[in-house]
Amino acid sequence: MVADAQSIWIEALAKRAGFAGTDAFAQAFELREYRLTQVYRAAAKESCAVLDEITTLPKALRAAMADRGVALSSIEPITVQRSRDARTKKGLFRLHDGREVEAVLMEHRRDRTTICISSQAGCAFACSFCSTGQAGFARNLTAVEIFDQARYFARDLRARSKRVTNVVFMGMGEPFQNYAAVMEAVALLNDPHGFGLGHRHVTISTVGLVDRIDAFSHEGIQANLAISLHAPNDELRASLMPVNRRHGIAELMAACSRYVERTHRKIFFEYVMLAGVNDSDARAHELAALMRGHLYHVNLIPYNATPDAPYAGSEEDRIWRFAAVLEKAGVPVTVRHNMGRDIAAACGQLRAQTQPKARKAS
Ligand code: SAH
Repeated sequence: MVADAQSIWIEALAKRAGFAGTDAFAQAFELREYRLTQVYRAAAKESCAVLDEITTLPKALRAAMADRGVALSSIEPITVQRSRDARTKKGLFRLHDGREVEAVLMEHRRDRTTICISSQAGCAFACSFCSTGQAGFARNLTAVEIFDQARYFARDLRARSKRVTNVVFMGMGEPFQNYAAVMEAVALLNDPHGFGLGHRHVTISTVGLVDRIDAFSHEGIQANLAISLHAPNDELRASLMPVNRRHGIAELMAACSRYVERTHRKIFFEYVMLAGVNDSDARAHELAALMRGHLYHVNLIPYNATPDAPYAGSEEDRIWRFAAVLEKAGVPVTVRHNMGRDIAAACGQLRAQTQPKARKAS
């Protein structure tokens, strides 16, 4: 069990301002429990960015807190880019230690909105096609640093009377390598007294860490699991994703069937379409054989080419033919829309534009 959402959030706020913890913070300002709840709910539910927006707090109290360096957000936006059609926004945020992470807001049709958030600064898994993977690992994010990315864009939507309908852990980093903080972030997103997003509207995407897939199957929450597969056989997958040398496809698929057996929940398989690499009909048949007969759904992702990686995205026509092979084999498949290509909205791309390459993960 993770601590309750309000405690996690207030404790982090207190520590950011240099207090030993929640008690010291409450004592310093003579705050009763309901005041802590007011601060938390204003931030989590109404996405307030600064203390002065919390009008339920006395003005003098807001000023006193601000003087002591109390801040509602743990992350600071550096740049926010909008796609030409304005339906995608990508934010680059600075953490207290100068690290940078990205999050993306996508506004789909019919009021559906998705926020894509980062769980680590950088990533240690070095997938050959991924911009973040090429730059190496810096550190895990805290639960609140993860949550604050969602809060930032929730505020943006709120200003236009819209709300967040989906959150996906598909930004920078490997969420299952930062498991405890990610579970706390999920609790923060889910809190019915706070952000209030149903578990079913949260998706965690992993490179396929087998022991963590098992752990996640025991959480008893309805959040969705997505596996970044990208290749239907070990040789090809290992060439794209070094993690495949640790957990091969057979081991990964065994963990996936245990997960479905235990949770009765569908798993989504992400498959990024790389021209001439993994997009042939033969690979589609191989993938169909892995997927068939299970509660599995394939998402074909158009590749956002990045200057760090020597790949091109498959032609649209090729993607649809690949999808047709899966469909004919009875495998549920969705071709994802590409959004925000003009603002380099794929994992790690914005950071890569503003920062020099960091060391490679060892
Ligand atoms: N580490 C996790 C989550 C982060 S990546 C994981 O691997 O699932 C989220 C998804 O974006 C992954 O499926 C990843 O393969 C994909 N991705 C990375 N770079 C991309 C790019 N340039 N274009 C399209 N998808 C990309």
